[in-house]
Amino acid sequence: MHWTFGYWISLGISALLVILWLILRTTGGYAPGWRIRCTACGQTRDAGRLGLIRVKARSTEKRIRGWCSHCKDLRLLAVERPSKAQARGTQSKTGQNA
Ligand SMILES: [Zn+2]
Repeated sequence: MHWTFGYWISLGISALLVILWLILRTTGGYAPGWRIRCTACGQTRDAGRLGLIRVKARSTEKRIRGWCSHCKDLRLLAVERPSKAQARGTQSKTGQNA
């Protein structure tokens, strides 16, 4: 009786890991397209590489406190999706032209 419980638990955990892996494969990472920008020096880094999770996030910007490797100090970091902001910028430009 005892081993059956452990068997179902391990099966459930394996299934969860497979589902998580499939989600990451289809979405392209933990934070696809997101960048972290230091508000003091302007240096940007990939948010997904830093382990930030912004999959299916609705907001376009978030501010967090974090360590900036360029400033070598704690700074206010802007977590943003530049692709969306750029798309909006080109949209307004084409709107003015037309
Ligand atoms: Zn900085």
